[in-house]
Amino acid sequence: MTIEQSESQEALHAATNNHHILPFHDRHFRALIEHGSDVILLSDQHGNYSYASPSIQRVLGYTPEEFIQLNGFSLIHPDDLPSQTEAFERLLATPGLSDTQQFRTLHKDSSWRWIESTGTNLLHEPEIQAIVTNFHNITVRKQIEERQHLLSQISNLFISSLDHQITLQDVADLMVPTLADYCRIALIDSDNQVKAIVASHIDPQKISLVQDLYEQYKGRVSATHGIQTLLKTGQPELLSVVTEETITPIGQENPAALPIIHTLGLQSYMGAPLLVRGKTIGAITFSSVQPHRHYTGNDLNFAIEIARRLALVLDNARLYQEAQEELVERKETEELLKRREEEHYRLAAIVESSNDAIVGKTLEGKITSWNHAAELLFGYSAEEAIGQSIIMIIPPELRYEEDTIIGNLRQGIRIQHFETVRVRKNGTRVNVSLSISPVKDSSGKIIGAAKIARDITQQKEIEQRKDDFISMASHELKTPVTSIKGFTQLLVRRFQRLGDEESLRFLSRMDTQLNKLTKLIGDLLDLSKIQAGRLEYREEPFELDQLVEEVIENVQGTTSTHALVLDISAPEQHVRVLGDRDRVGQIFINLLTNAIKYSPKADRVLIQVTQEGDNAVVRVQDFGIGIAPDYHEHIFDRFYQINEPDVKTYPGLGIGLYISKEIVEQHHGHIKVSSKKGEGTTFAVFLPLFHEEA
Ligand code: ADP
Repeated sequence: MTIEQSESQEALHAATNNHHILPFHDRHFRALIEHGSDVILLSDQHGNYSYASPSIQRVLGYTPEEFIQLNGFSLIHPDDLPSQTEAFERLLATPGLSDTQQFRTLHKDSSWRWIESTGTNLLHEPEIQAIVTNFHNITVRKQIEERQHLLSQISNLFISSLDHQITLQDVADLMVPTLADYCRIALIDSDNQVKAIVASHIDPQKISLVQDLYEQYKGRVSATHGIQTLLKTGQPELLSVVTEETITPIGQENPAALPIIHTLGLQSYMGAPLLVRGKTIGAITFSSVQPHRHYTGNDLNFAIEIARRLALVLDNARLYQEAQEELVERKETEELLKRREEEHYRLAAIVESSNDAIVGKTLEGKITSWNHAAELLFGYSAEEAIGQSIIMIIPPELRYEEDTIIGNLRQGIRIQHFETVRVRKNGTRVNVSLSISPVKDSSGKIIGAAKIARDITQQKEIEQRKDDFISMASHELKTPVTSIKGFTQLLVRRFQRLGDEESLRFLSRMDTQLNKLTKLIGDLLDLSKIQAGRLEYREEPFELDQLVEEVIENVQGTTSTHALVLDISAPEQHVRVLGDRDRVGQIFINLLTNAIKYSPKADRVLIQVTQEGDNAVVRVQDFGIGIAPDYHEHIFDRFYQINEPDVKTYPGLGIGLYISKEIVEQHHGHIKVSSKKGEGTTFAVFLPLFHEEA
């Protein structure tokens, strides 16, 4: 309360308490009341006025005469009415009580004014018999308070936005109705595209109209006013009084916008860009539809201040978000590094404790790592080896191997169990089995190799002893078997002379078994010779087709279950090859005996002899148990026999195909298998044709 106000109130009290001095008759009091800035009212217990001082016209627009026709309660803002009715009742109940209230009252121009009113119950005073009220306009003060409150709410958002995203809608809602009847906020991204836009309206049903209006000028670079212009220019704008004149240019530019502006009842408009370090990140607009709310330069300054704080809040939220993301990212990177480090140490520990020598090298052959087992195997310490060329452990005559290895690695091909020889620091040789894998960098580029070398000296020694034993045993067996075979022949002749058919039958069976035994011993002897590189081959041209026919005839003599069917593509023309006729014959004996052995349910084997390009080709096809693809590359290995739980075991040593392949290769040919499990197998032997003039 101002000094002036309190003085006038005291004067009134003094006047009304002094029974000898009548109010309003005194010149001083009258002047005070009639010229004071406060409004003085007298009313009865129903709120009907009997007196209003002239300043009522300044405060609420009515002349005193007009005002006293009205009931005080009819002008109070509906939201304030309940509290004011209650306050008035309290006043009536307590004679002499003086009570001050703040509420909104309708101005004659139908805008709302905040007033502060002090009512005193002097109904019981015989000279007065009225409620004496004095009030004054506090709209400006209220507005300042409200705006302060608004700013502090935005500042609060600043604090809360640090840990969660602020919603633009909350901000827009905050502006209505204190500062605008509708408010719009838009944000743009780094490409100046609107990424978020919200609107709030005092009347939620009109939001769609606000939206329609935006649709009218959205994306128009030439728009005269509005969000689009603010975003483009980065300059605040104010249309204090919206008149037909001010919106005409809008109508010209965009006729569809005008009816919407009219329906919205736009009276006044202002907007400010949201600026962060000089860059426009969005804009906020305020619109008034109240006839008496026209934005002023002052209001615009306030809007700019709101925009400034909002931009700060948004920028902080963004920075916070970025910082959070960075934090998460950094944590993830740290975790990853930690895991990688652990992995690295784990791997290093495994490598270090491995019994196999593990060596890392670049594609140029420079040694990059050397584990403990490598130190033991090759005799070089890690310090001595790292940085040196891998050549230092490769014997001079095997250096070409390194080129092949590197060539394979460059193509990403792994090398498995490659048996070779390496040299130690002291010059001695060591048999090793190498497995070499390409090492790739994070982009998948091959940058080197990891080599595992296993010392197979012992294994080699055992194999050697085994080979020696096989060689010795087969030699030792050969002589007695040959001798038994000889005596069998002798007995055959004797029993033939005696005409003892039964004994002859027994002898014939014995002979068959002896033949099997002889072949077995022969195979073992061949194997030993192959191992020792001592298998010798004659070299003379011969007719392959004839050889095949002979072999078929012989093998056919040993079987009564299968018919061996020969198909020679051009019977009149011999197929000649160069080499050891007996050894080549051995191949077909092996293939035919296998074909019969591994097709117990079939009754025929097909043999085909053809010429294909420069090759003579012999195919042996059976309709037996077949070979699953996984085994195709192994069946030619020494002592290899397929061992599947669901397949019965067949007698054999697993050396027939090994010897066959060896013989074929010694004749510069090759052997191929094609087979499907359960459907049968075809072996094809390719041998270069012999040309007379060659
Ligand atoms: P084996 O003395 O065991 O027959 P081979 O070296 O001749 O030895 O053959 C190796 C393995 O290949 C055999 O044990 C058998 O499992 C498989 N095999 C060879 N020929 C055939 C075939 N015609 N049908 C199915 N499996 C075969």
